[in-house]
Amino acid sequence: MSCTICGSVMDQNTDLVVHQVVSCGECLSEFEVLTITPLALQEIPADEEDWGQ
Ligand SMILES: [Zn+2]
Repeated sequence: MSCTICGSVMDQNTDLVVHQVVSCGECLSEFEVLTITPLALQEIPADEEDWGQ
């Protein structure tokens, strides 16, 4: 799979699971795995610590 931000190929040797967080080694963006087949990634905003709940 490739990073949706910078386009770098992200090697993923382990089996992915839904809701797993993967990160790009190039731009350090983090993604949550939404679905495996087809593979869909959701970018996790870097400043999502302040949820304000
Ligand atoms: Zn990237």
